[in-house]
Amino acid sequence: MQKNQIVELEITDLSYEAMGVAHYEGMTIFVNNALPGEVVKAKILKVKKNFAFAKIEKIIKESPDRINVKLNQWVQTGLASLAHIKYAKQLDFKRNQVVNLLQKIHMDDVKVDETLASPEEIGYRNKAQVPVREVNGQLEIGFFRRHSHDLVPLTNFFTTDPEIDRVLVAVCDILRKYKVPAYDEIHNKGEVRYLDVRRSKATGEIMVILVCLHRDFPELLEVAAEISQIKGVTSIILNHNPKKTNVILGKKDYVVFGEDHITDMIGDVKFRISPQSFFQINSLQTPRLYNLAIEKADLKPSDVVIDAYSGIGTIGLSVAKHVKAVRGMEIVKDAVKDANANAKLNGINNAQYVTGKAEEIMPRWAKEGLKTDVIFVDPPRKGLTPEFIDAAVETSPKKIVYISCNPATQVRDLQLFKEKGYKFDEVAPVDMFPQTPHVESVVVLTK
Ligand code: SAH
Repeated sequence: MQKNQIVELEITDLSYEAMGVAHYEGMTIFVNNALPGEVVKAKILKVKKNFAFAKIEKIIKESPDRINVKLNQWVQTGLASLAHIKYAKQLDFKRNQVVNLLQKIHMDDVKVDETLASPEEIGYRNKAQVPVREVNGQLEIGFFRRHSHDLVPLTNFFTTDPEIDRVLVAVCDILRKYKVPAYDEIHNKGEVRYLDVRRSKATGEIMVILVCLHRDFPELLEVAAEISQIKGVTSIILNHNPKKTNVILGKKDYVVFGEDHITDMIGDVKFRISPQSFFQINSLQTPRLYNLAIEKADLKPSDVVIDAYSGIGTIGLSVAKHVKAVRGMEIVKDAVKDANANAKLNGINNAQYVTGKAEEIMPRWAKEGLKTDVIFVDPPRKGLTPEFIDAAVETSPKKIVYISCNPATQVRDLQLFKEKGYKFDEVAPVDMFPQTPHVESVVVLTK
């Protein structure tokens, strides 16, 4: 097999990155945007030892699950790499990810629920972080083409709240008007690297973060004055990121206008959110995710609850009024500040959050002899550590509710819990990120 060769392929499967999978002369071929059941003429792009990558030249037989996305930039950029698949099939795809992972570790007897659909299939994101670059001599906002840093200019971000798109476009116009330079990542020069905009559907408050190479730039005050006139904007922040790095936000935030946070709501609980704090991005689906987790936890008024990887305390504070005490930990200092402030804001006085690594704090609490009834864990993609798992088990909870954004690490961790005497018989996939391959899943472990 050679690069640029054209082959006819029958697509039999979808990879976890949502590429069509075909087999040809002993090779596995991953075809961009092709769907199971399709027959395509494909051009080989890259050949490795046992596998190759290809792109569609022509679809010979089309899948009934395909949607013809007009603006296929969304698919190209990876902003919405499932946008060409009907929503019901996206939900099946996510459930299958979990089923396959369980099969690999011989846990086929575990029941996998249907994926809980998101109330909104597009326009659901309450936050957008979009790169700013110069394209053909003009400052543009957009998204990087998949596996590259080539900016595809966009004004409609598809999965983002349309009110946020409106703000992004307006800010882009203001930056152009004042001739503020876009960031040049090759030479680590220029100024604006990213626009980060967050909006609360519940309160309408909008935060605009200008991620900049410098602490200040000559046009900043005029630019901020104009941005502050955009409907809904209650906070403008300059985030200083001087490094040559792919990390979006720098460590320092400076308030240029208005508040240093916005306020959002989940159910009837209010949350203040600072620029560096994590907040679930699908506003309408989040309470449904939490309700599912909380229902499964079957909480009692006498329970001591841990909210691990707490962010701004969204899970713990949602249950605090129904239990005896909540303790939580989180690594981002500002998020912990938000969590404690959020307890006060909601008149909750039985919840306490501390800053630190979960894998270090949990063992400390276990050593101090803390006994828990229910532990909620909601770690980032890399999952839990064996130290955390040991310590959690030592506090002898009746239940551990594991919310995960990466079923692969979740399944790995579930095996460890199983070895330590905890069992589970069900996984509930939840779609927090329609149009993307990301899968969220909830598992309850019982002693
Ligand atoms: N439960 C929250 C946040 C979940 S996201 C919610 O639903 O909104 C995961 C959180 O874990 C993030 O806030 C991240 O900052 C935090 N985190 C990442 N690594 C951590 C670690 N080692 N110890 C504690 N918190 C960590």
